[in-house]
Amino acid sequence: MKDQPSSLTQLQMLADYDPNSLPVEQAREYIRQFLIPVAESASVGLHAALGRTLSDDVLSPINVPPHDNSAMDGYAVHSDPSSDNLQFKMIGSAHAGHPFDGRLAPGECVRIMTGAPIPAGCDSVVMQEHVEADGDRIKLTRELRSGQNIRRTGEDIEQGSAVVRRGQLIGPAEMGLLASLGLNEIPVYRKLRVALFSTGDELQQPGQPLAQGHIYDSNRYSLLGLLQDIGAEIQDRGSVADDPASLKAALQDAAAHADVIITSGGVSVGEADYIKQLLAEIGEVVFWKIAMKPGRPLAYGKIGQCHFFGLPGNPVAVMVTFLQFVRDALLLLMGQTPQPAFVFRATCTTPIRKLPGRTEFQRGILSQDAAGELTVRTTGEQGSGILSSMSKANCFIILPTNQGSVEAGTTVQVQLF
Ligand code: AMP
Ligand code: MG
Repeated sequence: MKDQPSSLTQLQMLADYDPNSLPVEQAREYIRQFLIPVAESASVGLHAALGRTLSDDVLSPINVPPHDNSAMDGYAVHSDPSSDNLQFKMIGSAHAGHPFDGRLAPGECVRIMTGAPIPAGCDSVVMQEHVEADGDRIKLTRELRSGQNIRRTGEDIEQGSAVVRRGQLIGPAEMGLLASLGLNEIPVYRKLRVALFSTGDELQQPGQPLAQGHIYDSNRYSLLGLLQDIGAEIQDRGSVADDPASLKAALQDAAAHADVIITSGGVSVGEADYIKQLLAEIGEVVFWKIAMKPGRPLAYGKIGQCHFFGLPGNPVAVMVTFLQFVRDALLLLMGQTPQPAFVFRATCTTPIRKLPGRTEFQRGILSQDAAGELTVRTTGEQGSGILSSMSKANCFIILPTNQGSVEAGTTVQVQLF
């Protein structure tokens, strides 16, 4: 590992070395200690339930399916223990939504379609491909297996059983599942209120002509996207100038109206970086530096009951720190139990230069070769201002703290977006 420094002095000579910055895992653990999920719940109509979090276990009020029904298009038969069960007399039909009313006697059958309720007296369904029909007589072309092709009452979900649990995110499958139980009023936690603003005198809003020396405020739009994805109630508070009085007022107003404040920029140690000192003044700073790249300045703290995440200004760092720290914290506050990120290994086809001492989140493109092997390459230039790298990437290549440079052909950890 050619870039690995061999002594502390060498380490200290590295521009980015900071013995006080927190390891990634420790920062996550610090944040977790402060998170208390929202408690208030409400009920919403099923149409509005997508993306919400269940605030109660849901017990099934019914059996699913609610009646024995046919798994095939064919014939519902009442077998006769005294015969070879190859010939049956057809006495009617049953379609989904149109049950057969009568009862089958031994040796009788009804034409039945998939999903139709199994008629009284029927013990098996024979698929139509295994039958020769002639008027009201049918002849089986193979031996009957008793009980075949019947979907039993409650075989998917038994009445009274817990189908989905408190804390479950309601996704498309849960929408269908809740509908299959006939439920229309769904108990959910209230939405998490997240106030969002950018900081910086240089920021202009999209749609305006760009003045000399200014840039467009892209961070707020990346963050709007990330927050919408997880179903937060977003208070978009625009951008605020690098002015302590304005920033302080913005923070205090947001803290009074939101569960969480997310800002970007102004959190480093430049002359116009006021966020950290303001946080210390009106709230408390839990930490403000992490041993990672990109995203080293990341402030977390509280202003009263409100959580505060001061993300860096650089556009890639904003997305990386959100995805690595903020997202799971918000899901927890929403009442969910975020699963640990799914990290797996792939062969890296590009060399990566890295110094030990901090975790790096490089933007990668994961692909699968013809044999199904996973390979990953970087998106190229990894500067923390190069937002196009996030757009090209489909994964992070995670290089742990102690890792040095990576040679092409070695295995790396990958985390899909
Ligand atoms: P800062 O930490 O405020 O010094 O910002 C670091 C870098 O990120 C600077 O180049 C800023 O111009 C840039 N930056 C800060 N905020 C934004 C934003 N909302 N959108 C795009 N770039 C930003
Ligand atoms: Mg700034």
